Amino acid sequence: MKRILGIILIFALSLSLCACGENAGNASSPAPEPEASDLPPEDSADNRFILPHYGCIAETDDVYYWLPTDRQYLLYYDKITGAMEPLCGRPECEHMSGGKNGAPNTNCDSYLNAEACSLSFYRGKLYYVSSSREKSDPPRYSLWRMEPDGTQKEEVLVLEPPENSRPQTYILHRGRLYSFCFDPIVVAGENRCRVRYIVTPIDGGNCDYTVMYERETHFMQLGYMRFVGPDCYIFNCYTDEATQQNRTSVLRWSSVTGETELLGDGSELGWCYEPWVTQDGEVFAAGEDHNIHRLEDGVWTEYMDFFDNDGCFEVKSISDGVMIGLRGPGPDQLILKDYEIWIRRFDGTTLYKGPLPQQWREAIPEPEQAQSGLAFITGDEGSLLALFSAVWPDSSNESGRTVRAFLVQYEITSDELVETPLGSSRPDLAPIN
Ligand SMILES: [Zn+2]
Repeated sequence: MKRILGIILIFALSLSLCACGENAGNASSPAPEPEASDLPPEDSADNRFILPHYGCIAETDDVYYWLPTDRQYLLYYDKITGAMEPLCGRPECEHMSGGKNGAPNTNCDSYLNAEACSLSFYRGKLYYVSSSREKSDPPRYSLWRMEPDGTQKEEVLVLEPPENSRPQTYILHRGRLYSFCFDPIVVAGENRCRVRYIVTPIDGGNCDYTVMYERETHFMQLGYMRFVGPDCYIFNCYTDEATQQNRTSVLRWSSVTGETELLGDGSELGWCYEPWVTQDGEVFAAGEDHNIHRLEDGVWTEYMDFFDNDGCFEVKSISDGVMIGLRGPGPDQLILKDYEIWIRRFDGTTLYKGPLPQQWREAIPEPEQAQSGLAFITGDEGSLLALFSAVWPDSSNESGRTVRAFLVQYEITSDELVETPLGSSRPDLAPIN
C-alpha cells in the first residue's frame, strides 16, 4: 500500500523509518541460462526503462527517445548536439503547437498518441502501441513501428487481448509483446481484482496471446516484469485474503518451454518494489522495510540496508549494477530540492554519496514557488537518467498552474555527479547546458 501512495504522490518522498538489517549476504542463487554480455542485445527489452507509471524511454548510441506521461508527442534528445526536440523532420511543422482549436497536431510526425507505456527501440526501429487504423467499438489497439526519424509509420499487429483484459503496459522482448493487465471484475456480485500477465508473438500477422500467470483477489495488486534471455520474470504483489498479509510472488515464464515456474511466494518483504534480475539470474527487490533483499532458494533474504548515522535512505532504484537510495530534507517539505543520494554497487561499495545536483530547476520560472520531486532514476555504473516532475503557479494557464517533467542525466565520477539537464516535456522550456 505504501508503494501505491508513493506512485501517486510523486512529490512526497516517503521517509518512513527503516528497519535495521544485516549487510550484503554471500549465498548465491541458481543461474538459469546466463548471457555473456551485461548489455541487452538489440532485440531484448531494456530493463532499466520498464517504467510503466512515468512515461517511456528508449536509448540508442546517439539518442534518448522520450514519450512523456501524456504519451502524445515523442521527443528525442540528440547526444551529439545536446538538443531535445519533437521527433519530426517536416519543414514548417509547428509540432506540439500546431493543433487547431486545442486539438492535437495529428500531422506532426512526433504525434503518436500511444496507448499505455509502450515505447521500444527494437531491431533498428521504434515500436509503440496506439489505436488501430480500422476504427471499432470498443476501440482496438495495434502495435505500430516507424523509422528512427519518425517516418514510415506502419501497423504491425492488431492486438486482441483475452476477454476483459486491459493491458497497462507493453514491452517488446525477443519477438514477443508482453503485457501486465489489471482488471476490476465482478464475481457473484462481488467486486474483485484480477491481474494477468500475457504475451503474444509479434511476427506472423495474427495475435496469439498466452496467459503466463493470473491471480484474482479482493484487493488491488501490483505487478512488474523483467527480462533475461528467453525468460520473463514476474513479480506480483498482492494481499492474502485470509491473513491480510502483503505478499510477493516471483515467477519465471520461459519462452522456450512455455512453462511458468514459481520461484518464491512470501511475506518477508511485503509488497516488493524496484525488482531487478541480473543477467546471471540473481533476483533482487526492495521491500516495505526499505531494505534490499535477494531471493535465495525461494525465500527473500535481507541483502543490504541503506542506513547511515543520520538515518535511512529510501531505495529508489535497483538497476544495471547499481542500487540507489535517496533521502529528502523532511516529510513536511514539498520543495524537494535538497536530496541526498547514495549510489552503490551490488557488492555494497559506494560509487557516490552526497547531494543530488538539481540545476534543471533553473528552467522553472520562479523556482522557489515550484514543488518538485524525483519520479525515477535508473542507469548503470557510468551514468544515470532521472525524471523529475515539477508544478508551479501560472496565472496564464486555466488551471492556475503548470506541470512539467524534466529529463536529467548524471555522469558518475569518483567524487561528484555531473548533471546534464536534457530537456522538459515541452521543449519551449529550454534546457540549461
Ligand atoms: Zn512536427
